[in-house]
Amino acid sequence: MHPAIPKLLQIQERDQRIRQLQKDLKDIPNQQTRAKMQLAGDQQAVDAASLAVKETEVKIKSIQLDVQTRQTSIKRLQDQQFETRKNDEFAALGHEIKRYGEEVSKLEDGELDQMEALEKGKASLKEKQAKLGETQKRVNDELKALDERAEGVKKRLEEITAERKEMAAPVEEDVLDLYTRIFTKKGDAAVVPMENAQCGGCHMKVVVGVIQSLKQSEHLTQCESCGRILYLVE
Ligand SMILES: [Zn+2]
Repeated sequence: MHPAIPKLLQIQERDQRIRQLQKDLKDIPNQQTRAKMQLAGDQQAVDAASLAVKETEVKIKSIQLDVQTRQTSIKRLQDQQFETRKNDEFAALGHEIKRYGEEVSKLEDGELDQMEALEKGKASLKEKQAKLGETQKRVNDELKALDERAEGVKKRLEEITAERKEMAAPVEEDVLDLYTRIFTKKGDAAVVPMENAQCGGCHMKVVVGVIQSLKQSEHLTQCESCGRILYLVE
């Protein structure tokens, strides 16, 4: 085995972990976004319930105004009735007063219905706010855990990067350059074993010349198909 291979394998193991940790770190903001999205549905339910309560309150106010207008009218008609000397006018005014009175009763019935609806609406709003609160708490916990994980991953990355640097220091520059170039390009591995006369990276058959070169182990041997550095499992 070429003397650089064990060192390169150690470096590669660190590089693979660095790559995985970087991937994990990059995915954490996505997970945080997904966690926050859980709030959207509950927030929407609270908004809808809150709007329904406001609309009911507006309806009640409007009914109360209508009642007030009619009561003012009734008061005015009663004054007119008090002052009149004519029997037919008195009767006509009485008829009007009765009509307004009936309208007021009807409006008040409607007001009672709306009051009931308001009570139910407020209870529903409270329920939905509680659910939102629970979800918010859960999401906050998730976000906190993800923050902590990101911190952990960053720390681990620093440690492994330092290890990698230390391991790479004694390796010849051109060997390290070749390794780094292949690892960057392939993404998974730059140094792979030859097994059953096949490249452990691309699984293509390895030609006889390459096998001989591997056995001599005087210089690094690359797979003719994918360019990865090969080594013999001894
Ligand atoms: Zn190959």
